[in-house]
Amino acid sequence: MLFSQVAECFAEIEAEPSRIAMSSKIAGLLGKCSAEEARKLVYIIEGSIAPAYEGLEVGIGEKLAIKAIAQTTGYLEKDIEKEYKLVGDLGSVAEKLIAKKAQLSLSSSQNTLDKAYGAFVRIAKLGGAGSQQAKISLLAELLNGAQPAEAKYLVRFCLGKLRLGVGDPTIIDALSMMRHGDKRESEQLLRAFNLCSDLGEVAERYILGKNLSDFSARPFKPIRPALAERLSSAEEIIEKIGRCAAEAKYDGLRMQVHLEGKRVEIYSRKLEKMTHMFPEIVDAAKRLGANAAIFEGEALAYSQKEKRYLSFQETIQRKRKYGIEAMAKEFPLRLFAFDLMYKDGKDLTLEPYHKRRSMLEELVRGNGTIVASEQIIAESPQMLDQYFKRLVDAGLEGIIAKDLNQPYVAGARKFAWIKLKKSYGQMADTIDAVVVGYYLGKGARQEFEFGGLLACVKNAESGELETVAKIGSGFSEEEMRSFEDMLSKIKVSQKPAGVVSKLEPDFWVEPKYVVAVAADEITLSPMHTCGLSGGKGYALRFPRMVGMRHDKSPDDITTTAEIIRMFEIQKRRQETQAE
Ligand code: ATP
Repeated sequence: MLFSQVAECFAEIEAEPSRIAMSSKIAGLLGKCSAEEARKLVYIIEGSIAPAYEGLEVGIGEKLAIKAIAQTTGYLEKDIEKEYKLVGDLGSVAEKLIAKKAQLSLSSSQNTLDKAYGAFVRIAKLGGAGSQQAKISLLAELLNGAQPAEAKYLVRFCLGKLRLGVGDPTIIDALSMMRHGDKRESEQLLRAFNLCSDLGEVAERYILGKNLSDFSARPFKPIRPALAERLSSAEEIIEKIGRCAAEAKYDGLRMQVHLEGKRVEIYSRKLEKMTHMFPEIVDAAKRLGANAAIFEGEALAYSQKEKRYLSFQETIQRKRKYGIEAMAKEFPLRLFAFDLMYKDGKDLTLEPYHKRRSMLEELVRGNGTIVASEQIIAESPQMLDQYFKRLVDAGLEGIIAKDLNQPYVAGARKFAWIKLKKSYGQMADTIDAVVVGYYLGKGARQEFEFGGLLACVKNAESGELETVAKIGSGFSEEEMRSFEDMLSKIKVSQKPAGVVSKLEPDFWVEPKYVVAVAADEITLSPMHTCGLSGGKGYALRFPRMVGMRHDKSPDDITTTAEIIRMFEIQKRRQETQAE
């Protein structure tokens, strides 16, 4: 496949607001690919060269890209920079300059998808002395053989700024459209993706015609995490799922541990590999009674000096690049395991929770560092409520109730798990929102270039980001300074694609940082676009920032549907209080 065909399709996708139409365009392109090409194409559409958990970035900075464009087009770097300042997108600059050059020479050989992907991989792997020059040459070589539109996407991709607005669900729909959107096949595709987090692999297998119905979890392919729904009381939980398990909700670091033979890997909630940060968990996993396993838990740091478990803010300090051994000695972790998804060659994700739990207890017995999470079986709302109150009094955030008969629901927020948390104002929970813009400081804050945030939740159906709060409080001075610093680096000249907003912040930014936000309640407001209907959207009243959520990506934020459900929970709470 020629890369110019890819570029042509990308241009059409960019101009296309409808998700279904985007899927159909991608399906058309995938239909022209071999299975191997499909794998590469899927990674490229995702803006990468490998599944996200591999953490591989092409990593060309703007300076290098400018040099490569200069080398190909003969324009001076300073002129390219000037043009870039004007246009705000180096991809478009490359497109324009290559178009001018194309009138002069049409000699070089054309780029194929394979050639471009191969060059991206080589660029990503280059390091050390001389690597910068080698990167420039590789990109310049691609640009030499590129049509103007191709150049735009090659440059954007290498800068990590492809941003087609195509999420994984759109790619999954595209795959399923290739075979007329059969519902069962589309569920199998989704399940396969949830079990391996590698959409490239799923696409390749699918196009090869392999059966996805028996796709199973495997060590070192992280499983997309199961997520908990919310309800507002013990009664509601028992009404929904009956007699259930209830576990302490630990506020630490979620870890998915994969073990096979002597190899251990630890993945974060975002599925980044973070094995090297937690040597004591790696050692403990090797002592478990299994040759292979995939299990999940929440890790808390323990202070030897103070003889107590530490808070989330303290535990998170263990997530670091340097000084790992010393920190591991001072604040050793204990992993409270809460699920087992695979053991010794067998995928357990479809087994009922009660069975997985008893296998988990057996697996961790006597380990000491990896222990099973605290749990009771709640026979009645009273029992569940008592347990909740006891844990909240002991300083925990709440409980997670678990349906005894449900499978491990990878990658979805379902009622198999239900969280019951102590409340925040009238709200049942804090929310996680992505920052899309910021305001300048006013009054006493004039010394800062930062005065507040415009934050969005995600409409999972349309894929759009909808505003839910303008956050002006909850920041320490240090946080204001760091926001000013972080956000000024990702400013964009206009409202980012996919953001729906009636408000206009002083600066728009690339949707990147996720913040946890508390509020007094959810209200309806004409200013916000979350769940917009009849001119009003859902909004947070008196929102305040609780903290950064570096463990979450913009794909993992609270959804519009969740906000609407939280609004319903709040209404029920208010009604009970009024009675
Ligand atoms: P979510 O993970 O649901 O998107 P969140 O990251 O804001 O939301 P919470 O709503 O506070 O987290 O609660 C869910 C999280 O609780 C899980 O992702 C997991 O990390 C953690 N957790 C703690 N204890 C348990 C437990 N016993 N069982 C399952 N999850 C637990």
